[in-house]
Amino acid sequence: MSEHRVAVVTGAARGIGAATAVRLARDGFAVAVCDLDEAACAATVEAARKEGGRALAVGVDVADRDRVEAAVERITAELGPPLVLVNNAGIIRDNLLFKMADDDWDAVMAVHLRGAFLMSRAVQAHMTEAGWGRIVNLSSTSALGNRGQANYSAAKAGLQGFTKTLAIELGRFGVTANAIAPGFIATEMTAATAARVGADFEEYKAAAAKQIPVRRVGRPEDIAGTVAFLVSEDASFVSGQVIYVAGGPKA
Ligand code: NAP
Repeated sequence: MSEHRVAVVTGAARGIGAATAVRLARDGFAVAVCDLDEAACAATVEAARKEGGRALAVGVDVADRDRVEAAVERITAELGPPLVLVNNAGIIRDNLLFKMADDDWDAVMAVHLRGAFLMSRAVQAHMTEAGWGRIVNLSSTSALGNRGQANYSAAKAGLQGFTKTLAIELGRFGVTANAIAPGFIATEMTAATAARVGADFEEYKAAAAKQIPVRRVGRPEDIAGTVAFLVSEDASFVSGQVIYVAGGPKA
């Protein structure tokens, strides 16, 4: 059935979003590869097509209502009605509270919270009309609190409440909503964090791995695999959950 379904993945030019888009293509979904810069989506689109799926690059700022609505209209026209949404686009603007600028707070809220809200609102009508849908939101272990991330931890905790509310409102229409809270995943985002604290990324990852029960840091594919389960038929009774994917217990 998934070969007839369209999945939208935001922030899919690289990292967790790219791995997720490719995995969903492998599982038979047509994939809308969304990111700020449409040209930056080309490699993910190519990799998704190699998996045999249809794929479309879509330039969209998830925090911009008009662009979100235009993007969902274009996806619907070119691929079909979106029945899976993965709200993955994200940014970090880390700083200790006393140094955190208004813009650092607002930018993080805009991408994570407003972005997930706008995207979910724009696609939900397609899902409720079809009587089937899957929304997966990327939270983080930082939702439990993390030094230097007052903005990000608040946004990621907020996404957990948002997810539970969508599960309650949309369940009767066959739509599930779940959140994945990754721990340390090796991507450009964590590489940027290492650079900000002046650490070599390889050493930073090795130090992080020592603190993780399974003794390794995560890979984007670890999250993509969890998304693949949550959007599958097998997960139709799983809704409103937060799954910590962190190589050990968290919540
Ligand atoms: P990443 O490598 O930085 O990729 C994020 C992507 O989102 C980038 O391509 C970025 O585009 C895009 N993006 C940023 N703002 C956007 C916007 N307004 N509209 C559309 N796209 C936008 O990050 P990642 O590590 O793969 O993380 C993906 C998600 O997982 C994020 O929500 C992150 O918070 C979450 N997460 C990551 C980790 C981790 O350890 N990596 C842990 C927990 C949670 P540009 O390059 O143009 O900015």
